[in-house]
Amino acid sequence: MMNYCYECGAELTERFLENEGTVPYCKTCGCFRFPIFSTAVSLIVLDPQKEHILLIQQYGRASNILVAGYVNRGENAETAAVRELKEETGLNAVSVHFNRSEFFERSNTLMLNFTCVADSSSLEELNTREVDRAEWFTFEQAKAEIRPESLAKRFLLSYLSDIGK
Ligand SMILES: [Zn+2]
Repeated sequence: MMNYCYECGAELTERFLENEGTVPYCKTCGCFRFPIFSTAVSLIVLDPQKEHILLIQQYGRASNILVAGYVNRGENAETAAVRELKEETGLNAVSVHFNRSEFFERSNTLMLNFTCVADSSSLEELNTREVDRAEWFTFEQAKAEIRPESLAKRFLLSYLSDIGK
């Protein structure tokens, strides 16, 4: 819950808004102040045989994570998932399915986890400006190799549990 207006700093009150209920309101600006946060997609990328998961390393860190990226304003999350997969790995998604979401407090971001099946397992078009390393892992290997105690690991374990692995 926001206590102060993010534009003018005045203390917020609450006002009733039709179809929304009680919403924080700035009397100085005369505007409703809905919560502000970012939205990002996180991807469980499967190879065409659906037997391997792609994990990547980024930003000079040696730990394995899932492909992820922010959703642009005006973009739907499924489109962002396909776009991020292409931008970071060069792979095309042949299917995209939503798994689950979790709010990531540290970056004020709602993370939406999807499964994307790639049309190829070739990593020849990997975007080496954004991704240091990418590798396909079996489900068992991926469980062991993904960064411990990370949101990526929670998403991965949840997905594997859902498909009975
Ligand atoms: Zn204000």
